[in-house]
Amino acid sequence: VPVALLIDGHCHVIRAGDLDRAEFELACGEADLPAPAGVSYLDSQLGLAIRRWCAPVLGLPAHASFDDYLARRAELGWSAASAALIGAAGLAALLVDTGLDVPDVVGMAQLETIAGAPVHEVVRLERVAQDLMGRVDAAGFAEAVAAALASRASDAVAVKSIIAYRYGLDIPPQRPSPAEVVEAAGRWFRTGGRLTDPVLLRHVLWAGVDTGLPLQLHTGFGDRDVRLSRADPALAREFLEATVASGVPVVLLHAYPYHRNAGWLAQVYPHVYLDLGLTVGHLGLRADSVLGEFLELAPFGKLLFSTDAYQLPELYLVGATQFRHSLRRLLDGWIADGALRPADAGRITEQIGAANARRVYGARLGRSAG
Ligand SMILES: [Zn+2]
Repeated sequence: VPVALLIDGHCHVIRAGDLDRAEFELACGEADLPAPAGVSYLDSQLGLAIRRWCAPVLGLPAHASFDDYLARRAELGWSAASAALIGAAGLAALLVDTGLDVPDVVGMAQLETIAGAPVHEVVRLERVAQDLMGRVDAAGFAEAVAAALASRASDAVAVKSIIAYRYGLDIPPQRPSPAEVVEAAGRWFRTGGRLTDPVLLRHVLWAGVDTGLPLQLHTGFGDRDVRLSRADPALAREFLEATVASGVPVVLLHAYPYHRNAGWLAQVYPHVYLDLGLTVGHLGLRADSVLGEFLELAPFGKLLFSTDAYQLPELYLVGATQFRHSLRRLLDGWIADGALRPADAGRITEQIGAANARRVYGARLGRSAG
């Protein structure tokens, strides 16, 4: 089954500059604290996958040690190593969530040069709202959110919500009333801090729906900031019910370990899609089994490839290569069983890898954002 270029439907920017071993190791997973003595985050499924898939791209034998790998990476320099690693991922386009606040990252134009593929912006809703702090009054908040989104969304291919992080997916489905929004905005502007007020989060989420752009919704695991049990996409059922008539595509990101719940949602709601990012890249060899679970209930036209790569260029390559490898192994098994023909396997591979993304995210894909 030939695998063409992939559209990376959800990823982030990479760090600019050479990383020491401790920084590299922390960037390899969702932990933000160093591992305890005697434990390395590199001694893991993702570590094995990096040694297997990335070492040969930097001119080393597969499974070279991390000492050798990091020495080779430093010798090449972060920029050349990044271009080699992301280039080898075979991406047709990158949809980049620009809402994270981290120092020392490359800009979008620089990422486009390094990746050798068009990059497109996904606007993070909570970030747009946060940027209004101190610039508008409570009475003008709702209008300012709409105006800021209209301006940001004119160049974006999607919006994204992290309400699962800031509150949880168990939200009342309806829009808050204008009076509720003014009152909550007044409270937030007096106390300051991160946007965690459930009324404002719901308002901003609906403002995202109003843009008409596909809405990416963080679900499932992530860093330790997320209350995992409240990130089960099944909890968003009332919201999905309330948005089905809008026709706005809702793309459930990550989902793991609730990806089977997400598969059911993708089956019963015409506007719900399921993104494979983060999960497949981080599971290494186990991606074979979990990909099989993603392909249980969800129609194949509802599944979208992504890497969710962040900070490290390795995560683009591992995400893309492990996906291709695991999907091929899965579908080869189905062919051997007589469940489908090679032509069907090729069509499913093309759908998940790029065709579904082109349909959901639209004609802007593939055109340079710069
Ligand atoms: Zn992400």
